[in-house]
Amino acid sequence: MRDPLQPFAANESFQFECTPRVACFNACCRDLVQALTPYDALRLRRGLGLTSGRFLAQFTRRHTGPGSGLPVATLIPADRPLRRCPFVTESGCGVYPDRPASCRIYPLVRSVCRSRATGELTESFYLLREPHCRGFEGPTRQRVDEWVACQGLSDYNRENDRLLELIALKNRRHPGPLSSATGDRIFTALYDADAFRAALAGGRLPGGTALCEQFPGAARGDDLALLHAGLAWARHLIATDGETA
Ligand code: SF4
Ligand code: SF4
Repeated sequence: MRDPLQPFAANESFQFECTPRVACFNACCRDLVQALTPYDALRLRRGLGLTSGRFLAQFTRRHTGPGSGLPVATLIPADRPLRRCPFVTESGCGVYPDRPASCRIYPLVRSVCRSRATGELTESFYLLREPHCRGFEGPTRQRVDEWVACQGLSDYNRENDRLLELIALKNRRHPGPLSSATGDRIFTALYDADAFRAALAGGRLPGGTALCEQFPGAARGDDLALLHAGLAWARHLIATDGETA
C-alpha cells in the first residue's frame, strides 16, 4: 500500500481543489482533534471579536502537549458523535479568514528542522493523501510554494516557528512535566493575552519592566508584540522552573 505521506519539494506541483462542489465537502471538519498554536488562538479570537478569556472558556480545553509537556489549547467539538468543529457551517468554514494553520495547509504537511550549528531553519513538505478526501480529483494544479502563498500561511509559519523554538528549549532544558504553577503561567503567557497584558501592566510579573522595554508594543496592547513577550516570558519560566514555582 502506498504511504499516504509523500515527500514533496517546494517547486513540485499537485492536483487539488476543495470547493463546496466536492462530494466530501466539510468532511474534514468532523472528528475534530484540533490543537491550536498560540498564534492560531490569537487570530481566531480576534476574528471572532472575543476577549482571550471568553474565547478560551467558550471554545477550548487545556491539555498538556504529549511530546512537549507544554500547555496547549484544543478546540472543543460542537457535538457528538460527529465531533464537528464549532466553526463549521453548511456553507463551509465560518472563520475562514482566521482558520488555524493546520486547516490552511491541508493536504500538505510541513516539518521544520533547525541546524544546531547555524540555528537556521529548514522546512520540508509532504503531501498527505487520505482516501476520504476527493479534493485530489479537482482540476487545479499548484506548486507547494503557491499553495503556501494562496493559503496565507507565511504569517502562521513564521509565528508557529517561534513556538517550535520554545518546544525545543523545553525539551532541551526541562524534559518531562513542568510544575503546575509554571504550566499555568506559561498557558497565560501564550494563550490568555488579556490576563497576561493585565499582569504586565499591573507590575505583577517579575522582570515585567524588562519585557516591556524589549517588546514596547506589548505595553501598548499590540497582540503580536504581546505574544512575543509571552514567548520570552515562557522561555524564562522554563529556564527557572522549580525556582519560581
Ligand atoms: S476552523 Fe474552519 S476549516 Fe478548520 S476545522 Fe473548523 S470549520 Fe473546518
Ligand atoms: S476532505 Fe478534502 S476535499 Fe473534502 S472538504 Fe476536506 S479538504 Fe476539501
